[in-house]
Amino acid sequence: MHEITFSFEFFPPKTPEGVEKLRIARAKLAALKPGYFSVTFGAGGSTQSGTRDTVFEIQREGLNAAPHLSCVGRSREDLRLILEEYKSHGIRQLVALRGDLPSGYGAAGSSGQFSYANELIEFIRAQTGDWFHIEAAAYPEMHPQAKSPQDDLQNFARKIHAGANSAITQYFYNADAYFRFVDEAKKIGITVPVVAGIMPITNYTQLMRFSEMCGAEIPRWVRLKLASFGDDTAAIREFGLDVVTQLCERLIQGGAPGLHFYTLNQAVPSMAILQRLGVSA
Ligand code: FAD
Repeated sequence: MHEITFSFEFFPPKTPEGVEKLRIARAKLAALKPGYFSVTFGAGGSTQSGTRDTVFEIQREGLNAAPHLSCVGRSREDLRLILEEYKSHGIRQLVALRGDLPSGYGAAGSSGQFSYANELIEFIRAQTGDWFHIEAAAYPEMHPQAKSPQDDLQNFARKIHAGANSAITQYFYNADAYFRFVDEAKKIGITVPVVAGIMPITNYTQLMRFSEMCGAEIPRWVRLKLASFGDDTAAIREFGLDVVTQLCERLIQGGAPGLHFYTLNQAVPSMAILQRLGVSA
């Protein structure tokens, strides 16, 4: 197995207790020496200042921080100011996204805003040149609003042609979907690293809810098994740890260039997986 590179994603906490809990989680995860920590933006009602504050705090701790930046519902001027601020603070990496559309959202282009992530990436390059390393999102099981997997792949290619350096996938539990996606991308000349997004399994109801929204498939056997544990959280966690560790092993063996953990601000589930993969502090 090649050496594992990995990163962790947080969402900006909304309360002082949340901030404190995240500090503790981050200290544990930092001991594993990840490549960077990323912080979501605009997801789940989080605010712009929440992302910024969390990113700058991580940076003050001497760690690499990558803010997410989504363009939906934001003016070019807003985006330009955010980019300027990150640049002036020495942030060198961004995760650039469209973001999720509020229901009833019309054609963004007509209001002068960006409709798709490729337009945001093009804008970042035009404004800031090569300053940022840009990560784009990839969907091995297809983005839920895409017309077809082929169309989604072409749209992924647009983001790379617009200047993204690498990609992070939506989470998935079917390794074959990932490998096929990477192969198909290569066939159309897209050879940037596609890092696998990993969602540890700790809570059945929450996992079903997230997966429904983002289009990630929970294989039937995994779903049935998880459901059979009822509210036995320890059994869910243990089984989830087995399933996700095996997924990671397959991904690494098959050449995935890295793992990006959706931590949901919890240290232990990601640490447990990494420990089984031979990474510990
Ligand atoms: P796009 O690449 O723009 O794709 C959106 C849809 O439009 C797809 O169906 C695509 O096929 C289609 N499409 C793309 N380009 C075109 C085009 N030019 N013409 C026609 N159709 C097109 N959301 C947040 O709000 N905040 C976050 O911090 C956040 N972080 C994320 C991190 C990762 C790693 C991932 C995988 C997702 C994250 N999301 C986040 C969710 C993301 O915003 C949603 O999945 C969103 O619906 C799509 O974002 P995108 O950047 O992939 O969009």
